[in-house]
Amino acid sequence: GRRFVVVGASLAGLRAVEAARKSGFDGSITLIGAEPHLPYDRPPLSKAFLDGADLPAFRGEEVLRDELGAELVLGTAATALDTTAGTVHAGEREFGYDALVIATGARARTLQGTDGLRGVHTLRTRDDAQAVRRALDAGARTVVVGAGFIGSEVASAARKRGRDVTIVEALPTPLVRAVGQTMGAACAALHTRAGTDLRCGVGVEAVEGEGTVERVRLTDGTVLAADLVVAGIGAVPATGWLAGSGLTLDDGVVCDETLFTGAPGVYAAGDVARWHNPMFGRHMRLEHWTSAAEQGAVAARNALDPAVAKPYSTVPYFWSDWYGSRIQFVGVPATDEVRVVDGGPGGDHFVALYREGDRLAGALTLNGQTQIMKYRGLIARGAAWTQGLEFAGRRRSAAM
Ligand code: FAD
Repeated sequence: GRRFVVVGASLAGLRAVEAARKSGFDGSITLIGAEPHLPYDRPPLSKAFLDGADLPAFRGEEVLRDELGAELVLGTAATALDTTAGTVHAGEREFGYDALVIATGARARTLQGTDGLRGVHTLRTRDDAQAVRRALDAGARTVVVGAGFIGSEVASAARKRGRDVTIVEALPTPLVRAVGQTMGAACAALHTRAGTDLRCGVGVEAVEGEGTVERVRLTDGTVLAADLVVAGIGAVPATGWLAGSGLTLDDGVVCDETLFTGAPGVYAAGDVARWHNPMFGRHMRLEHWTSAAEQGAVAARNALDPAVAKPYSTVPYFWSDWYGSRIQFVGVPATDEVRVVDGGPGGDHFVALYREGDRLAGALTLNGQTQIMKYRGLIARGAAWTQGLEFAGRRRSAAM
């Protein structure tokens, strides 16, 4: 029978396995994952999990083994890919494949010079989150480095638990690349209102302590006492194991619009994949839950039936939860114009639209759950900027 191998046992990898069986594939499936855990969901790690919530696996071991008939090779990192022989090397074993999905995601960037210092963490895995949660349980004075989405969620969770929190952000305004200057400032206001001490435009000079972190020294001379330091300074695609494979690696595994890497039978999905998104006519690498899940399924179907491979096209979407509010973004943060069309940056609700040329390119909402997918639909249909504004106007008058 044919052999389907998936490397990376998280969201995209799991969806790949499920889609393979759903499409009727009856050959062997092997799921290889570096972490010892069954696939689990990451978004709760920086949210409810830090407040004591459980984190169940997506699927039980019986479902994966018996219903989906997958061989699980967990706690084992793949170390090499040979695209000529059609093999993956992992933990002293060689796995031959006819179809392969690469779903190794991304790993958190770490703070330089903090190796071995207790109390300094990143937040990417269940084990990371467990360590951060224990520190919060113990009442840690918390310093978060980086006011991106994950750092902001950690700050929010720590405030909810009554901890003193300082965020140190090197840029003058947080989230500029993600949502632009004005809206980055609007999101930053949520921190200040919740009592988080947000310091922008200042870097970390050193993280110091005897074995365990004691203080963070900033480039402006400030010294912050700290028992817990969480670095939320971004993630890098986990492609180290693909060195020498011949695949094109450029901030991720470069793929065409069908998630095909160019090597026979080899597709990529999720945070590790930089693919050509036909909806926007450009290559993108997203670190968003929804696209990772969808790409896992598409990559599996395409890998198993390349003759009818279908493109994966999407309007990027992500959400983030801060201080009981939900931030949602769809599209791309185009900078030709950003206009607040509802609510205000200082309040509990707003909608901002992003223009690229004469097109509606993106939308950001704070507590706008009933609207955001409408904007996603408009962007998917290639709506003009004026259509976006008209839609917002109708929403406003309907609400009055
Ligand atoms: P990952 O989830 O990164 O999984 C990759 C897996 O591959 C890992 O288990 C890794 O150990 C394994 N691996 C790596 N290298 C190897 C190797 N060589 N061999 C074998 N296995 C390997 N998105 C949103 O849209 N909204 C949110 O609110 C949100 N919150 C988040 C909060 C946190 C704390 C984090 C970390 C992410 C969040 N995300 C959120 C992003 C979302 O979780 C990711 O987009 C998604 O997990 C990507 O799935 P993936 O399967 O591509 O990669």
